[in-house]
Amino acid sequence: MTRVHNFSAGPATLPLEVLQQAQQELVDYQGHGFSLIEASHRGKEYEAVHNEAIRLIKSILNVPDTHHVLFLGGGASMQFGMVPMNLINRTTGGDNDHSDHLLTGSWGKKALSDARKIAPAELLFDGSDSGFTTLPEVTSIQSTPGSAYLHLTSNETIEGLQWKEFPATDAPLVADMSSDIFSRPIAVDQFGLIYAGAQKNLGPAGVTIVIIREDLLDRAGDNVPAYLTYRSHSKSNSLYNTPPVFPIYMVKLVLEWIEHQGGLDQVAKNNTEKAAALYEAIEGSHSFYRCPVDPRYRSQMNVVFRLPTEDLEQRFVKEAAVAGMTGLKGHRSVGGIRASIYNAMPRAGVNALIAFMQQFSEVHGGDR
Ligand code: PMP
Repeated sequence: MTRVHNFSAGPATLPLEVLQQAQQELVDYQGHGFSLIEASHRGKEYEAVHNEAIRLIKSILNVPDTHHVLFLGGGASMQFGMVPMNLINRTTGGDNDHSDHLLTGSWGKKALSDARKIAPAELLFDGSDSGFTTLPEVTSIQSTPGSAYLHLTSNETIEGLQWKEFPATDAPLVADMSSDIFSRPIAVDQFGLIYAGAQKNLGPAGVTIVIIREDLLDRAGDNVPAYLTYRSHSKSNSLYNTPPVFPIYMVKLVLEWIEHQGGLDQVAKNNTEKAAALYEAIEGSHSFYRCPVDPRYRSQMNVVFRLPTEDLEQRFVKEAAVAGMTGLKGHRSVGGIRASIYNAMPRAGVNALIAFMQQFSEVHGGDR
C-alpha cells in the first residue's frame, strides 16, 4: 500500500489508524454479524456510538452545560440559511431583527448572501477591498443595537486567513468553524453558536456539528419547517430523523484519535509547529514563494502561497504529485498553491513538502 501526502482542503486526509479501524469493523461490527451502517439508528449498537461521539465532543472541546451538541445533515452550507432562520424570528418582529457579519473571505461571503435572503444583515467589516488578506482588530468590533447575532468565519479555507482570538460582543457570537474546529482549544462559552462540516478535521463529509447555547434554541418562529429548527434536533438528541450514521461513527473514531494524541493542547502544539515550519520555508525562499496573507492572521490549517508565475505554479502542482504530494492546487477562484495541513497531516508530510519546495525553487529560481 502506498499512501500519498494528501494536502486536499476537504474532504481531507484522515488518520490512517482511523481508516484501518473502520475498514476492519465495516463488514462485521464488533462481532454482531452486521455492519453498523446496516443497523437501525434506534438500535442499541448505533445509539452507543452516537452518544459516545457527543460525549467526546463535549469532553475534548470542554463544552459547558449551557450548550447543546447537535449532528445535522446538509453540510455547513445549510447553516448559512438555518442560522438566520432560527435566530431571527420574523413572525414576532421587535428586537433581534437583523444580523451582523464580518466579511473575511469566500465562505463568509456565502454566509452573508444567504443571511440576507432571510433578514437584513449589517456588514461590520469588509475584507474584499484588501483581497481578503487581513482581519480587523478584535477590540474594534462591536455588534449593532438589536442585532440577533454576529457571524464570523474562524478560518477562511480558501484565502488562508484565521482568527487568533475572538471579539467580545453584546450580540451572541456565531462562528463557522468548518475548517479549524478541533485544531486548538477554544472557549466555547464565548459563542452562542458554532457550526462545522466534518470533512476537514473530524471525518467524512455528511455530518455537520452544531454547538448551540440553550437560550437560542427557542428563537425560531413557527413558520420554520421542523427539520430546519435546532429545537427539533435538540429535543430528540439529534435523532429527529435518520442521522448520517456512518460519518458520525467516523467522527467518534477521529475524536478517540484526538484523545490519544493528548487532546487539543497537544494537537494545537503540533499544528503550530507544522504551520510555522511551512511559513518559514516560504519566508526563507528569497521571494520565490510569497504568502499574501497578513502575518498576524495566517492560517495554521490552509497555507496559501504564490510562485513567480502561473506557469511555475502549474509545474509545481504536477511535479509535487509525481513526488507523492497531492491536493496542492489553490482554490479555482483564487489560484496559486494551497497546502491544507489539518490535524491528521503528519509532520513527515509537511517536511516532505518543505524539502520539495526547496528543491523546486533551486531548480526554477532562474526561470523568473
Ligand atoms: N465554511 C467553510 C469555512 C468551509 O471551508 C466550507 C467547505 N469547504 C463550507 C463552509 C461549506 O461546507 P459544506 O461543503 O459542508 O457545505
